[in-house]
Amino acid sequence: MAQNRIEGAGGRSYLAIPGPSVMPEAVLQAMHRAAPNIYGGELIEMMPGLVSGLRDVARTRGHVAIYIGNGHAAWEAALANVVAPGDAVLVPATGRFGHGWGDMAAGLGAEVQVIDFGKSAPWDLDRIAETLRGDGAHRIKAVLAVHVDTSSSVRNDVAGLRKVLDDLGHPALLMADCIASLGCDRFEMDAWGVDVMVTGCQKGLMVPPGMAFVFFNDRAAGVRAKMARVSRYWDWTPRAEPTEFWQYFDGTAPTHHLYGLRTALGMIADEGIEAIWARHERLARAIWAACEAWGAEGPLKLNVADPAHRSRAVTALRIGAPHGTALRAWVEGNLGLTLGIGLGMAPPDDPAWHGFFRLGHMGHVNGQMVLGMLGGIEAGLTALGLPHGKGGLEAAARVIAGGA
Ligand SMILES: *Cc1c(COP(=O)(O)O)cnc(C)c1O
Repeated sequence: MAQNRIEGAGGRSYLAIPGPSVMPEAVLQAMHRAAPNIYGGELIEMMPGLVSGLRDVARTRGHVAIYIGNGHAAWEAALANVVAPGDAVLVPATGRFGHGWGDMAAGLGAEVQVIDFGKSAPWDLDRIAETLRGDGAHRIKAVLAVHVDTSSSVRNDVAGLRKVLDDLGHPALLMADCIASLGCDRFEMDAWGVDVMVTGCQKGLMVPPGMAFVFFNDRAAGVRAKMARVSRYWDWTPRAEPTEFWQYFDGTAPTHHLYGLRTALGMIADEGIEAIWARHERLARAIWAACEAWGAEGPLKLNVADPAHRSRAVTALRIGAPHGTALRAWVEGNLGLTLGIGLGMAPPDDPAWHGFFRLGHMGHVNGQMVLGMLGGIEAGLTALGLPHGKGGLEAAARVIAGGA
């Protein structure tokens, strides 16, 4: 089995799941060092540069708090600063992650209202507007908005949601989960009027899992200031305006991750965020072109019908049970290519669960990797005798070549 092998006698493996993503060698090398001094020197001096690099990626002049944690930690951190027990929050859910963030708010004592848009459709802004209009007393304090839902690969219109809130004069905070989209899909925190944004380091930011980020604007800081209490560890205030180095992290710094992040942010700055969005766009279009060609005959289907509502970093596919699991097993065992499991599309104990899979194409990915992945999938479809339309690779190559 090629599982968990980065490089072996049989060649280099490829982990094409939607997070953790492929880690650049330069990031790993930057982390491979003796423990640095945390009381003086380089680590402390590099912090302002990291904060400014993070703001650039998020397109904000606002604040950022850094935590040792994963995306779930970022969810809880953001909520802990602005949502008190008994507060109402609205969750327009387009897959599993919206429900997950809502659950976490419920765990903190919030009253959670979910509008469920199913597993393949984006937000319907009119329906969200209707719900907000019904909240004349402005009890809803925040809207928990997942930009890209990694389970369904639905991409939502965050700027459109801001317009809905503004048009209604509704004061709810707009809180965005960009864990799967930051550094992949266009996202503009300030221009889109996002008050709070959460992300992790292990997807578009290309650093091993372990750091979480909460960005917030002055409006959100004002809401935080009115909270009766905020759990001490999650409080974003000292982290965003530290007077001592340890306050960035409320304790020991994630020393090696910071070195990895410095290198990753440098790579992002060198390529340019606009160019990075364009690269993800082109690679995603190549993947869709292949999948559409294969799907012309046989069971393979893209989960999201309209390209405008598809993530540029993850693609969810339906192929019917048990073919999703069979295909993943074949490409992993024979080619060293690991594809993502279907997430949240069916319960894990339901045989239908085996009918889904996902492709991760976030962060450190280029055309040869995507063409290799697609070639692997085509080989798997062929080996398993699964009917599929012809010309998938050709269609993808055309997009990569710039002709489509
Ligand atoms: C990955 C992901 C999460 C969860 O992040 P973890 O690091 O696994 O806790 C939450 N939301 C979205 C959109 C994600 O892609």
